[in-house]
Amino acid sequence: MKSLVVYNTLSRKKEIFEPLNPPFVGLYVCGPTVYGDPHLGHARSALTFDIVFRYLKHKGFRVRYVRNITDVGHLVGDADEGESKVEKKARLEKLEPMEVAQHYFNNYIECLNALNILRPSIEPRATGHIIEQIEAVEKILQNGYAYESNGSVYFDVEKYDKDFGYGELSGRDLENMMAGSREDLEGGSEKKHPADFALWKKADPTHIMRWNSPWGEGFPGWHLECTVMSTKYLGTKYDIHGGGMDLIFPHHEAEIAQSNACNCNAPKELHGEAKYWFHNNMITLNGQKMGKSLGNAIDLYQFFSGDHPLLEKSYTGMNIRFFMLQAHYRSTLDFSNEALQASEKGLKRISDGLQRLDEINPDGRPLAVNTDFEENISTFMADCEAQLNDDFHTAKTIARIFEVLPVINQLHAQKSGPFAVNPDTFNQFKADFHTLFTDILGLQAEESAAGSSQQNETLAGLMDLIGELRATARQEKNWGVSDKIRDKLNELNIEVKDTPEGMEWKVG
Ligand SMILES: [Zn+2]
Repeated sequence: MKSLVVYNTLSRKKEIFEPLNPPFVGLYVCGPTVYGDPHLGHARSALTFDIVFRYLKHKGFRVRYVRNITDVGHLVGDADEGESKVEKKARLEKLEPMEVAQHYFNNYIECLNALNILRPSIEPRATGHIIEQIEAVEKILQNGYAYESNGSVYFDVEKYDKDFGYGELSGRDLENMMAGSREDLEGGSEKKHPADFALWKKADPTHIMRWNSPWGEGFPGWHLECTVMSTKYLGTKYDIHGGGMDLIFPHHEAEIAQSNACNCNAPKELHGEAKYWFHNNMITLNGQKMGKSLGNAIDLYQFFSGDHPLLEKSYTGMNIRFFMLQAHYRSTLDFSNEALQASEKGLKRISDGLQRLDEINPDGRPLAVNTDFEENISTFMADCEAQLNDDFHTAKTIARIFEVLPVINQLHAQKSGPFAVNPDTFNQFKADFHTLFTDILGLQAEESAAGSSQQNETLAGLMDLIGELRATARQEKNWGVSDKIRDKLNELNIEVKDTPEGMEWKVG
């Protein structure tokens, strides 16, 4: 098996993936700030790293996958001043902030389950790691890369820049980064430099989530939790840090700076927090950036129900998963009804192929090898792995699946007579196809969902008809027929209730 090649945002090029301590791999991904229902951006990031997680495991690595939950410290507009996203929602909904966090965390998991996204090994919460965050702030202060200002503590970006160079990941330099924004500091800012970011914020009297610290009551800055929790569970330097491209700056840049400032006395190879930085691209909708203010933000529940003016119908989680996998994770991906419906058909074709594959039985049939078929299926898995080894190219992997479908269909059509492929090759292919479809791509056959919605419609139609016949029997005082229908339905586990509007029914 050839080596895995990955694109590293840090070096801006593709590199051979060599974990620091094989066969172990540490993977840290920035999870959601839990104050609203998950949308496509959440799904794409979770799915990107679900594929990374699944494929690394398939290659025999032992992966510890950590994805955090941000339940404190993330302020509106990703700023250092203003209201916390979770607290703002709590105030609007008259809930305790932890209720908000729990509610939206549950919804996040429920939606990701619908996309068959595996749960990580550890899902740590920022509020569960306040002590560790305070310790990190103390360390950064001791090492001279932070300063206290009016009860808050800020990271000293200028000092850090001199020693380490700030902007390594994003390719920004401090002067350009801050051009024209020095005026932000007018009017008595607590910061020495506009690029400085909060490690610890003093809580104003209205702030609900607050903890005691050496600098008074407050709460941690948003960037700090990821440095602290990744270090705690994966070590000072680990293999992969992931997230959406929108997190490269300032969030991930700040993480690297915090990590280096904590470990400034450690050997150089322990600097940089992670060896590889992976970033998934963004999602657009009908060619437009998605956003609440643009009126085109559709959350995952709305996709599942179809309940949004921009949606022509509902779409299953598996449909959305397959659609996303048809693009490389570093490409932008445009959602439209047309594209989703095309991918729905595509997944159905592959699901049908899988079903046919399982129905093919070469046992006891004479052999008449078709070299084209034999070659197509014998190189299938190696070709797919070559694509996945190329920076997890799921789109090209799926294209290769479509190429093998005609062979499956033709083998299936020849029910008897000579079999066109060596049975050993065929059985290996069948096992590989299942591994690829189920374990690596995490797909599930869609026919049952499509079939059951068709069956539900048929059932509803039949029950309407039975309801009318029973109403007629009752009008004619033909109690024998009316009761017989009810009893028979009960036997079939269908409960019926007579109401002034007619017969109501439910299964079970
Ligand atoms: Zn993070």
